Amino acid sequence: MIDPFGKRAREVLDEFESMDNFLRIIPSYMSIDAALERVKWIKEGRIPEYVINLDDLRDLMGFYALLGALAFSPYGLEMELVKKANLEIYRKKISKEFDVEELALPVDKVERGEIPREDEVILEKLLYEALPEEEKRKFALRYKIHLKNLLSLGSKDLNEYYIRQGYAYLTEHQLEELWESAFERNFERAVNIFYELREELPSYYLELYNRISEIAREHFKERLEKMGSASAQPLRFDLFPPCIRLALAGVGSGLRNYAITVLLTSFLSYARICPNSQGKNVRVKDCIKDLSVLEKEILPVIIEAGNRCKPPLFEDQPNEIKNIWYHLGFGYTLTPTLEDSGNSTWYFPPNCSKIKANAPELCKPDKDCRYIKNPLTYYLRKLYFARRREENE
Ligand code: SF4
Repeated sequence: MIDPFGKRAREVLDEFESMDNFLRIIPSYMSIDAALERVKWIKEGRIPEYVINLDDLRDLMGFYALLGALAFSPYGLEMELVKKANLEIYRKKISKEFDVEELALPVDKVERGEIPREDEVILEKLLYEALPEEEKRKFALRYKIHLKNLLSLGSKDLNEYYIRQGYAYLTEHQLEELWESAFERNFERAVNIFYELREELPSYYLELYNRISEIAREHFKERLEKMGSASAQPLRFDLFPPCIRLALAGVGSGLRNYAITVLLTSFLSYARICPNSQGKNVRVKDCIKDLSVLEKEILPVIIEAGNRCKPPLFEDQPNEIKNIWYHLGFGYTLTPTLEDSGNSTWYFPPNCSKIKANAPELCKPDKDCRYIKNPLTYYLRKLYFARRREENE
């Protein structure tokens, strides 16, 4: 098997009935050290041969164990490390054996005579007799992908493809590049699905996550030094998802309590002080040492958004401030202290499906929403890519 998201992989996973089940079973079959072999090699730069040659089930178990661990903190250096190391492993596997039908990529093989002879001669350099066969293979257009599928993979420059009757024709190299884009998308999608399961995952995954984190911190040491702390940082309003922007702009009377007290309060507090929360029992006092961030940075934004509502939320319902503290985990109070955190549950931002069901007017998805299932992961994802861009400038 060469593609952990491909047809054969899906067949193997189907035997376990659900991904949830598969993740529960993995810890009994694969030690944390064995799963880590898939990333540890990055230090020496050479993938151990036995990792390449693992049987299908162990290969999938190791890979999905790492994805399960990433559920505790998507869009961090850990994800980058796991993606990089495993992309390399599967790239190597592909270079050894190759069956296009096994790839999680909607491509077909090109039939003989499908490309007009005159185009074939030019594109595949058929008249270049001095060219070795090996070189000629590089130009052969053996695969094709429907344009709509190509565009959905984010390909913008169609000029680099030979296009005919709604299909882009591909060389082996182009196929590999597309497969990499598809792998990255599937990878991200899977981590987002697992993010929703993280509170039910066995402790194995949190332990594995912590071990991956150690390797990632070592591997990306220089970048980390340049970046400073990768966790709590000032909020980047420009990277907020559409639902949060709408809530910030103020909403009408029927939506006010949900938009401000439930959604905005949970989103802003987690995004600012505990973006990588690892479980449901986290308390504000586990993440900050005094209340100044909440009082000076978060509460004013919530109150201003409440004042922009029609009618203004806190004028009509002054007690709603107590409810904000309640949702932050301090109990129903106007005068919280740090020690009070834990008196009630610190509400986590609701998932997109809940927002769509409870306040459909707030959910106006943009193109980035298709990757995520929770507004907080939308933000973490955008933050991750923004930092990458800034690092490269
Ligand atoms: S899809 Fe999710 S993040 Fe995007 S606008 Fe809707 S609720 Fe917000």
